Amino acid sequence: MAKNNRGKRLYKLPSRGRGICPLCGKTRIKLLYPYRTAANELLQVCKNCRQK
Ligand SMILES: [Zn+2]
Repeated sequence: MAKNNRGKRLYKLPSRGRGICPLCGKTRIKLLYPYRTAANELLQVCKNCRQK
């Protein structure tokens, strides 16, 4: 699973993997990390908001 979030793979994602992070509200950032909320929803968040 190395370098899953790099290169050409991103171009297959909607918006090429970019969007607005639901946690920090940063725009045009790459949303590459799944984050499970307290409501058990799965969101894609930016690298700054990913869990350890
Ligand atoms: Zn974020």
